[in-house]
Amino acid sequence: MRLHDAAALATVLAMATAIAGPASASTPAHTHTHTGTPEGVAAPAPASAPSTACPANAGWDTPSPPRHVHGDIWYVGTCGITALLVTSPQGHVLLDGGTARGAALVEANIRAAGFRVEDVKYIAGSHEHFDHAGGIAALQAASGATVVAREPAAVVLERGHADRGDPQLQELEAMAPVAAVRRITDGEVLALGPLRLTAHATPGHSPGGSSWTWRSCDGVACLDIAYVDSLSAISDDHWRFSDPANAAYLAAFRRTLDTVAALPCDILITPHPGASELWSRLGPAATRPLSGDGACRANADGARARLDKRLADEAAAPRPD
Ligand SMILES: [Zn+2]
Repeated sequence: MRLHDAAALATVLAMATAIAGPASASTPAHTHTHTGTPEGVAAPAPASAPSTACPANAGWDTPSPPRHVHGDIWYVGTCGITALLVTSPQGHVLLDGGTARGAALVEANIRAAGFRVEDVKYIAGSHEHFDHAGGIAALQAASGATVVAREPAAVVLERGHADRGDPQLQELEAMAPVAAVRRITDGEVLALGPLRLTAHATPGHSPGGSSWTWRSCDGVACLDIAYVDSLSAISDDHWRFSDPANAAYLAAFRRTLDTVAALPCDILITPHPGASELWSRLGPAATRPLSGDGACRANADGARARLDKRLADEAAAPRPD
């Protein structure tokens, strides 16, 4: 079943009101100006047509309705943090869980798209930071799903916090611990019914970062989907990419950029929608096609330039204590 369930959608909107507050959730976008009504009195917007466009700079917990992506794939995240539901008659795979607060929005979006949360069999994801994995424990509890991750992300999910292997350690919030994470390795295929999702080790933004690729058909239109992890080179004040002690980490990061550039990639989706300008390609504000040639290569090239800039900045700055 895929049709919008009015009751479930109402739940999403109610939840949006509860989380975001009534001002942002219930205020429709006024696309018309004056239409003969007195100054200061807007014509009533149709109750069934709230604005569903996500702003490019949306907050992590800004609600979004679920959006059909392609074939068996639904976007069930918020406006600011991606969660993807890859569906099949034998159960679903959820990629990323949003923040601790966003998990309820993800769960409501799964139901609003017409699916049962209890049918989520696996939860996998991008990387072990609280904006993408903070909601996984709650979603695991709601679904009974097996959580799948690569080391060293798996141990971070189970422990609920990172260690000094993570460049951003001192900026990271703790997460609710996830139970019994199943380890998956680079190149391994996560299989469920007809679904085959390949894990790619893409460390750099975090030590345990992973990207996922799979093929998705919409009728005869079969496309390669790439869910590519964050590639930004950022750290807290006490960690440098150019530190000789981190040479192996930096080399792995550079291999990641080569890996991403070469992924099969008709449709690129990233954990932060803005990193791949998703809202210009999906949803009511889209102005260009969702799919396009060379999206992963362009994404990797941009990240490589930013990494080189970061290294130049480090070289020009005094060493931290
Ligand atoms: Zn992160």
